[in-house]
Amino acid sequence: MYLYNSLSKKVEEFVPHTPGKVAMYTCGPTVYHFAHIGNLRSYIMEDVLEKTLRYNGFDVKRVMNITDVGHLSSDADSGEDKMLKGAKREHKSVMEIAKYYTDAFMSDCAKLNIKTPDVVEPATNCIPEFIHMIEVLLEKGYAYKAGENIYFDTSKLESYYVFGNQSSDDLKIGARDDVTEDTNKRNKNDFVLWFTKSKFEDQALKWDSPWGVGYPGWHIECSCIGMKHLGEYMDIHCGGVDNMFPHHTNEIAQSEAFSGHKWCKYWFHVHHLNDETGKMSKSKGEFLTVSLLEEKGYDPIAYRFFTLLSHYRKPLTFSYDALDQATATYKKLKNKILLVPEEGEVDEKAVEEWHGKFAETVGNDVNTSMGITLLYDVLKTDLNGNTKRAIVDDFDYVLSLDLLKADEEAKGGEEDELTAYVEAKIEERKQAKKAKDFEKADAIRNELLSKGIVIEDTREGVKWKRQ
Ligand SMILES: [Zn+2]
Repeated sequence: MYLYNSLSKKVEEFVPHTPGKVAMYTCGPTVYHFAHIGNLRSYIMEDVLEKTLRYNGFDVKRVMNITDVGHLSSDADSGEDKMLKGAKREHKSVMEIAKYYTDAFMSDCAKLNIKTPDVVEPATNCIPEFIHMIEVLLEKGYAYKAGENIYFDTSKLESYYVFGNQSSDDLKIGARDDVTEDTNKRNKNDFVLWFTKSKFEDQALKWDSPWGVGYPGWHIECSCIGMKHLGEYMDIHCGGVDNMFPHHTNEIAQSEAFSGHKWCKYWFHVHHLNDETGKMSKSKGEFLTVSLLEEKGYDPIAYRFFTLLSHYRKPLTFSYDALDQATATYKKLKNKILLVPEEGEVDEKAVEEWHGKFAETVGNDVNTSMGITLLYDVLKTDLNGNTKRAIVDDFDYVLSLDLLKADEEAKGGEEDELTAYVEAKIEERKQAKKAKDFEKADAIRNELLSKGIVIEDTREGVKWKRQ
C-alpha cells in the first residue's frame, strides 16, 4: 500500500512498525456542538483508509479521543473553553453537553456507514495519564511553570515545525478578536499543558494536580490517549488538514520529548470541504449537518458517495447542485446493481482477481474515485450475475455505500428501470402460474423478495411494494 505522508510530502510505501499490524489514531470531535459535514468528510476518508488497510490484509487497531475538556475557542490556548461555551448556550451542564453531542456524533457516523474505532476515549477519562506525561516533560526540562500554568517550551526542540511551511509568524497573537496575548509564554508558540490559574476562572471541570487544581490543555490528550492504547510507536495519525498546526505539531513535540524517539511514521490529512464562499465553518453561513441534509430529503450515504468521488488531498466544494448530481449518479449505480440477475455460480477466481485490482487501486493513496470507476468496470464484464454481485459486495466493504441494499431506493425518482423490471417479473410469474409451473412462480416471488420487493395477490390483481 502507498500513502501520502504529510511529514515527507511524498507518497511512500506503507510499512508499519510491527509487520502486519497498524496502530492508527484519529483526532476525535470536540463535543460542544453538532459536527458539520465538512468535519465529517475527514471521518469518512479516515474510515475508508482504515477499511482499505484491513482490505489489504493489515490488522488495524484504531483509537479516537473525544475532546470533552480543555479545547479553547482558539487552538492557541486562548478564548473560552468550547465545552463551557456550549453549556452556556444551551443552559446545560458541561457533562450533559458532552454526552448529548457525543451521541449525536456517533449517530451521524452510523448514518454515514463510518465504523466506530476500536477504542473511543473521552479526555476526562485520562487525567492521571496527562499528569504523568506533564511530570516527565517537566523533569526532562521540556516544560516550565509560569503564572501558575504549565507550558511546553518549544525552543528546547531541534525542529518544532516538522510539517514545514509555517513561519514563526503563523500564529499571530491578537490576529483574532478573541485572542489576547499570554505574557507567561517564553516563546510565542509555547503551549499550555496544564491550566491552573488563568482567566477562565469559571471552568466547570477541574482536577487536583501537583501544580494545583486545574485542567489539561487540548494537545496533551491526543499524545496520552494515543500512547495509552497504542504504545510509544504509532503508524498513522489522521486528522483534518487544519489540525496540522498547531495541534499535530504540538502533539509531536510533546510525544517525542516524552519518549525520546520518533513517535508517528505517517501523517494523513484530509483537506477542507468548502462551500461556494470558502472554507465551511460552524459560525458562517448555513450550518450544514447530516440532520439538515436528511430534512432536505438527502440520503446520508449519497453524501458519502459525493465525498468518495474526489481525492481526500484536494479541497472539495459543496453545493446542493453538486449533491443532487452525486445523488442521481448514486441511485443510477444502485439500480444498475439491483438489476444484475442472481444467476450462475460465483467464480471465486474472478472475485479474487478483482479483489487484488481493487486493493491496489484504492491502496494507492486512498484513490476512492478510481475505486468507483473499477465498480463500473466490473458491471461491464460478461461475468455471471452472482459473480458480479460477489465482487460488488467485496468492494463495498471499503466503499460502504450499501450497494446491494435495495430498501434505500424508495427515496425519490429514478425508479423507472426498477418498476419495469418488477412488472416484467410479475408478468413472467403470471404466465408461469397459467402454465401450472408453480415452482417457477415461487422462484420469481423469492427472487423479488431477495431484492426487497414483496408481491401480493389481490382481487384487483398483483400488487407490489418494498419491504
Ligand atoms: Zn488530536
